[in-house]
Amino acid sequence: MKFPKFSFRWFLLGVGLIAIIGLTGMNVYSLYALHESTVVSKQENQKNKLIDFTNEVRHRFTSPLNDRFRLNTSRFEEQMQSDDEKPEAFLSMLNNASEDSLFSEVYFTDAECRPCEDGGEIRKYNPQTESFEWVDQTPEEVSDGITMARTNMSVLIGDYRWQTRIFFDTHRSLTIAIINSREEELLGFVNLLIDSDYLLESYLTPKISELFRPAEESGIVVWLHDWTQDEVLASTDESVPYDFQLVSTTQNFPDLLNNWNLKASFTESPTISASRATLIRNLSVLGATVVFLIGALVFMFITAQKERNLARRQAGFLANVTHELKTPLAVMQAAGENLADGRVNDESRITSYGRHIHNEAMRLRGMIEKLLDVAKADAGQMVLKPEYANLVDEINTYLQNKRSMIRSEGVKVDFQYDEPIPKVYIDRSSFDTIFGNLVENAIKYSGDEKYIGIRLRNTGKHLNVDVIDNGRGIPPGDQKYIFDKFYRVESSLTANTKGHGLGLSIVKDLTELNGGSVSVTSEENKGSTFTITFPLDSTNTNQTHKLNGESINQAESGDQRKRQKSSKPAET
Ligand code: ADP
Repeated sequence: MKFPKFSFRWFLLGVGLIAIIGLTGMNVYSLYALHESTVVSKQENQKNKLIDFTNEVRHRFTSPLNDRFRLNTSRFEEQMQSDDEKPEAFLSMLNNASEDSLFSEVYFTDAECRPCEDGGEIRKYNPQTESFEWVDQTPEEVSDGITMARTNMSVLIGDYRWQTRIFFDTHRSLTIAIINSREEELLGFVNLLIDSDYLLESYLTPKISELFRPAEESGIVVWLHDWTQDEVLASTDESVPYDFQLVSTTQNFPDLLNNWNLKASFTESPTISASRATLIRNLSVLGATVVFLIGALVFMFITAQKERNLARRQAGFLANVTHELKTPLAVMQAAGENLADGRVNDESRITSYGRHIHNEAMRLRGMIEKLLDVAKADAGQMVLKPEYANLVDEINTYLQNKRSMIRSEGVKVDFQYDEPIPKVYIDRSSFDTIFGNLVENAIKYSGDEKYIGIRLRNTGKHLNVDVIDNGRGIPPGDQKYIFDKFYRVESSLTANTKGHGLGLSIVKDLTELNGGSVSVTSEENKGSTFTITFPLDSTNTNQTHKLNGESINQAESGDQRKRQKSSKPAET
C-alpha cells in the first residue's frame, strides 16, 4: 500500500481540518453552555420562588400576632390572676387572632397548669367580651400543643431573652409561650387552633396555583405533600400526576407545617423550549456549515492533487510524444532519402521501403488522430451525427477492416450476441473509435496467447458491449484512474508497451457524449472486461436488426427464443 508523502500541502490540510474541528467543538460547547445556563437560571428562579413562598406562609401565620412584641410581661402574671384589666397588647393580639379565619379558637393557660395531665384548668378566650372562660374538657390538639411548647421552653428558658416564643404543632395548632425573660420564668401559654380546611382550601391551594401557574406556562409542577400520609394535598397542575421519581426539589416550611412540604418537578417551559429550538437551529446551521467547509477544503485539496498529477503526467506525455513523433518521421525521412537518391534499385527493397514509409505514416496518423480527438473533446468541439446504428454490423465491419492486423497479431476473436439486437442511437464514427481503442488495448495488454471476446447483451433498458481479454489485468487500485487523461498503470509491462494514456480517456469522453457509460472489471493476470453501455429507449428497442435482408422486429416478432450466434471473421 502506498502512503502519500508527507508534504507542506498535507500539513496545511491537517491544520485546516484541525482548525475547523476545533472551532466547531468550541462553538458546540458554548451553545450548549448557553442553553444549560438558561435552564439552570430558570430552575434556580423557581427554587427561590418556592423558598420565598414558604417564608410568606410563615409570615401569614405570625403577622396577626405582631402585638406580642409590645407585650410587657413584668406584671403579666398578676394581671391575669386578678380581675384587673388585662395588658392591652395581649388582648389586641388575641382579638386579631380570633378575627383571623386561619385560627378557629383561642385558649390560655398559666405556666403552672398541666392541662394534658389533669384534663382541666384551661381558659378559652371570648373576643366579644374580651374575657376568658373556663372550659371543662381540654381539646386534645390544645393539650398536645401546650405540652410540646412547655417541653421545648424548659430547655430554652435559661438563654431566652424575649417575652414570647412561637411553636407550631405541625398544621394543628400554634402555641405562644409568654415569658418573663428577666426572671427566666414562664408565665403562660396561648394556644391557637388552626383551621386546616381554611388553610388548605382557601389559602395554600389558591396561593400556589396563582404563584406557579400550569406547567405549560411556568415549566414547574408544585405539589403540597403530606409526607407522613404520602398524600398530595394540592397541586398546581392536575394534568401531571404526582410521582416521587419526577420530584426534582423539595422545600420544607420553616418551623411550621412540619408534616407537609412542597415538592416540585421541572418541565419544559416556553423559555426553555425556545432556548432548545435556538440550540437545535444553531447546531444545524453550524453542522451544515462545517460539512460544507470540510467538503470544500477536501474538494479543493483533491482537485489540486489531481491537477498536480495531471500536470506531471502531461509533462511525461510531452517528452514521450515528442520522441514518438520523431521516430516515425526519422524512419520515413531516411527511407525517403534512400529512395530519392536512387540508391535503392532492387524492386523488392523499394517495396519494403514503401511499406515502411506507409506503416510509419499510419502510426503517425493514428497518434495525431488520437491527439486531435482529445483536443476536440476538451474544447467541446466534437461533432456527432447520431443515427440508429446496428452494432452487430458495426463490429463486423470493424473486424473485417482490421482482419490483416488481427491475423498478423495472431488474435483469436470470439464474437457472440443474443438475437434480436436492437439498434442504438449513436454516432457511428464515435463507436468505431471507442470499439477500436478497446480492441487495440485488449491486444496490446494480452499475453502471448491473444484472445478477444466480444459480447452484445440486451438488458431490456440498455445495450451492453463487452470487450474481454485474458491479458495481464489491471490492479484494483488503478482501475478508477485508467479513464483519466495520460494515466498509465505503472508496471514494467506497461513500460514496455507503447501508449500515452489517452485511449481510454477518449473512450470515456465519446461514450458519455453518446449518452452511454463505460466500466471495467479486471483481475490481475486473468484478464479484463470493458463494458460500454448504451441506453435503449422505447423508440430504439423497436428498431430492427437486419439479418439476411429480413427485418426482425423485437417487439413484434414475439420470438423469445434466444439464439446464440457466433461470428469469427478472423481466427488464427
Ligand atoms: P495507453 O494504452 O495508451 O497507455 P489507455 O488510456 O488506452 O492508454 O489505457 C490506460 C492504461 O490502462 C494503460 O496504460 C494500461 O495500463 C491500462 N489498460 C488499458 N486497457 C487494458 C487492458 N485491456 N488490459 C490491461 N491493462 C489495460
